[in-house]
Amino acid sequence: MKDRSLLMIPGPIEFEPEVLQALGAPTTSHVAPNFIDAFGCALENMRKVWLAPEGQPFIVAGSGTLAMELAGANLIEPGDRALVLSTGVFGDRFEDLLTRHGADVTVLHAPIGEALDLNQVEDALKGGEYKLLTVTHVDTSTAVRMPIRSIGELAQHYNVLSIVDGVCSVAGEEIQQGDWGLDVVLTASQKAIGVPPGLALLVASPRAMEASSARSSSVRSYYADWAKWLPIMTAYEGRKPSYFGTPAVNLVAALDVSLRQIVDEGMSARFARHELLADAFRAAVQSLGMGFVATEPKDQANTLTACRYPNGVAAGDLLPAIKQAGVIVAGGLHPKIKSEYFRVGHMGAVCMGDILATIGAIETGLRSVGHQFEAGIGVATALKWQAEQED
Ligand SMILES: *Cc1c(COP(=O)(O)O)cnc(C)c1O
Repeated sequence: MKDRSLLMIPGPIEFEPEVLQALGAPTTSHVAPNFIDAFGCALENMRKVWLAPEGQPFIVAGSGTLAMELAGANLIEPGDRALVLSTGVFGDRFEDLLTRHGADVTVLHAPIGEALDLNQVEDALKGGEYKLLTVTHVDTSTAVRMPIRSIGELAQHYNVLSIVDGVCSVAGEEIQQGDWGLDVVLTASQKAIGVPPGLALLVASPRAMEASSARSSSVRSYYADWAKWLPIMTAYEGRKPSYFGTPAVNLVAALDVSLRQIVDEGMSARFARHELLADAFRAAVQSLGMGFVATEPKDQANTLTACRYPNGVAAGDLLPAIKQAGVIVAGGLHPKIKSEYFRVGHMGAVCMGDILATIGAIETGLRSVGHQFEAGIGVATALKWQAEQED
């Protein structure tokens, strides 16, 4: 039988056939007219997807961690103070990264499964003289979502640059970079942007670009230096070729296709779709007797869900059984609670059929490991949820 497993992890996700076709097309020169146009359109569409009309987009070959590094390397000079808001593994990664670039880092850790309290953030900003703060919009290790609109307002008020790790949120969760005053919003191709792994993507505000050009020391990373990449982005957007490092030609062509699809769907429709499917999925998971790592509904992400195993069910038993039933989900990631939960990504091209298939596979898996529940209750709950939304 054809391998038709459904990939429901928090990246890489299921990709649209047109995107994969672009990826598999014959590779052109990086100065071929068609490619120049694809690169230029992708840059223009990034501003629309990020809702950042004044922003400067960057497309650089690498993973999401490179996007984090692009932000850190260009905005931190040795001795600068940085505030890291951590809601899981990816927040902690920023502590390590900014420290490497010479920052004096303070970290606020939220209790596992909770968002950080805004008063606590404000207290830290009041006393801190920070140059920048980082916030993980959705931490993929806990599925906790931070209220980045409020964080952006606080950062503006205290004149601190804001870096949003949106790797698990851009093009899935609502972000209005321009209106919300966020300085850098970064992501990677393989999550809700819907392109196979390999591109680091970010949009920087005019304020962030000014801060990087006002540096007194040069950027310590050669490859990550915005000053090397800015002329390339400007040239391609003006439909002229330019060279610093060879662009990932096929990935950029695939990105162009995916961004067009996203813009065609419309950002508010896309955000609403993610919200509806996430709510339906969570209602179903609860009906099967499972809870979530993120306990408060307001902190629960729309791009992925971290589900706690029911009592008596072990990770090693359930995940292979779900896979056997045709759906691939991800194990726990946070080192302190790794064996207590699993993660399901529902972002990008996800539809209700994928949600139903996933719940069906989870039900099949639960039954095979002996968990007691009313057969079909998960699928029925999701369908009922959908019907109620349509009424
Ligand atoms: C996936 C992810 C990253 C890391 O991206 P890579 O492409 O794996 O380097 C960083 N932050 C968040 C929130 C993520 O979900």
